[in-house]
Amino acid sequence: MPLFRLVNFNKMGVPRIRIIKNDDPNYSPDLSQFGKGAFIEPYPEEFEFKSSSSDQIYKVTKVKDNYKCNCPGYYRSYSRECKHIKSLKK
Ligand SMILES: [Zn+2]
Repeated sequence: MPLFRLVNFNKMGVPRIRIIKNDDPNYSPDLSQFGKGAFIEPYPEEFEFKSSSSDQIYKVTKVKDNYKCNCPGYYRSYSRECKHIKSLKK
């Protein structure tokens, strides 16, 4: 489920950060209720995969529909789609 980071500021200007889950990838709540300067931004979802050939853990991060992986297959692939990303898209 898409994650969002909502940041607002108290009277002292100290930020308060909340991570929100919402089904709508374009979720945009009315920010006026959170005070001056509040904003919301997509927050990366993370998925971990254990390498089949070593003890390494590969991590896929997803922001909206953009996926990134830190495995070698991701960097080798022209389409920037490794087996981990493909498995998540299914
Ligand atoms: Zn990968």
